[in-house]
Amino acid sequence: MTMEAIHQAIIDGADADALAALPLPDTMRAAVVRKDDIDMFADRPTEDKDPRESLRIDEVPIPPLGPNEVLIAPMASALNYNTVWTSIFEPLSTFGFLERFGRESELGARHDLPYHIVGSDAAAVVLQVGPGVTQWRPGDRVTVHCNYVDLESPEGHMDSMLDPSQRIWGFETNFGGLADIAMVKANQLMPMPDHLTWEEAASLGLVLATSYRMLVSRNGAPMKQGDIVLIWGATGGLGGFATQLVLNGGGIPVCVVSSEEKAQLLRDVGVEHIIDRKAEGYRFETADGEPDYDEMRRFGKRIRQMVGQDPDIVFEHPGRTTFGASVLVCKRGGTIVTCASTSGYLHEYDNRHLWMRLKRIIGSHFANYDEAWQANRLGDLGMIHPILSKVYPLEQAAQGAYEMHHNLHAGKIGILVGAPEEGLGVQNQEAREQHLAGITAYRDLG
Ligand code: NAP
Repeated sequence: MTMEAIHQAIIDGADADALAALPLPDTMRAAVVRKDDIDMFADRPTEDKDPRESLRIDEVPIPPLGPNEVLIAPMASALNYNTVWTSIFEPLSTFGFLERFGRESELGARHDLPYHIVGSDAAAVVLQVGPGVTQWRPGDRVTVHCNYVDLESPEGHMDSMLDPSQRIWGFETNFGGLADIAMVKANQLMPMPDHLTWEEAASLGLVLATSYRMLVSRNGAPMKQGDIVLIWGATGGLGGFATQLVLNGGGIPVCVVSSEEKAQLLRDVGVEHIIDRKAEGYRFETADGEPDYDEMRRFGKRIRQMVGQDPDIVFEHPGRTTFGASVLVCKRGGTIVTCASTSGYLHEYDNRHLWMRLKRIIGSHFANYDEAWQANRLGDLGMIHPILSKVYPLEQAAQGAYEMHHNLHAGKIGILVGAPEEGLGVQNQEAREQHLAGITAYRDLG
């Protein structure tokens, strides 16, 4: 049986028994980074490290299925910045994660391979379930969250993100979503929203759940009605969903972007307060590389002019270039919630601005099972909308990663894996019309 035939059976709506009976091929297409290539960019600055040289489509074996695991056929996936990190081998090679996993257990050893199949999102169909799986069966249409954890340690029992063995699927594990067949734990699966296409459903996953934990969950900086929320990168993957969550929850977003086109996207979804950081020329560092507090104050003044007060919450992820400003402009008693450091992870800020004004910094990382499930449910209810700007076939995943590395995209970049074209997979047209009518097309910016 070929993968093409399996994909066709899915598109034709083959039933569970027919899908379960399909023999799997020995190999499949997968977007991989190879261990042999780890040093290929050693002499280049970050911006010149090109995912198009390191992220390849290879034919690789189908992973062997273990207990409580599921083999799925991703019909679509989406790119995340973690695939950029893997493919430029920064801040470190992800093969180190796979080697460590390999030393842990017999099942972990399957992941320690000379290639890394990447991808932390998928909208997929279940093909085979391993021993012990009770809730899912072949033919189920699913989305996948990337919280990969065994929960043997008590630390994770209240919040699975606190388990010391917690990993991000497709980044710290092998067999991710940018492949014809992916392997997941059964507890990563969630029902696919039936009004969305494969590529739309796949695009909600990682960044929506991350933003949910940061802004809605008690584990982040739970926003309340009327809160002013400063959102960096407000039309990026995280920021595009953060903006929707703030609007849904009765907050007032102050959105930072870097072009008029992106500002217009935000106006179209009802955002009133937008700062174009490029047009207004903010740079929070002097020519000598010292923090420029006058410039940070100018930024703070601008926010006050717009909304009459300092932000209750700052949604942080750019890191080194913005963190000092985020701490300074945050309201007395307010919260800076951070999940990343795209521009550099060694931050400098004046700690007097934090302690004298009783601010808090909260570190946040992906989402626990419940947060991921609740975020997926918001997509299912039509309360959160996909923000795809581009869709590429699997063969061009590296081009998408290049664009993401150079901030040439908006929202999410979808990747078609089993789906031969865009627009497939919708099962509830009526709900689609109801939920997505009039929604701005990020596609215009692609
Ligand atoms: P993205 O789609 O590339 O969006 C990032 C946005 O940040 C861009 O749209 C850009 O917007 C803005 N930005 C980039 N560099 C900036 C800078 N120096 N100063 C100010 N703004 C800047 O990426 P993403 O998916 O949102 O992810 C962002 C970061 O979060 C990545 O580092 C990623 O690895 C991390 N992340 C972490 C988690 C976690 O669980 N810990 C989860 C998801 C993502 P403008 O140019 O329009 O301002």
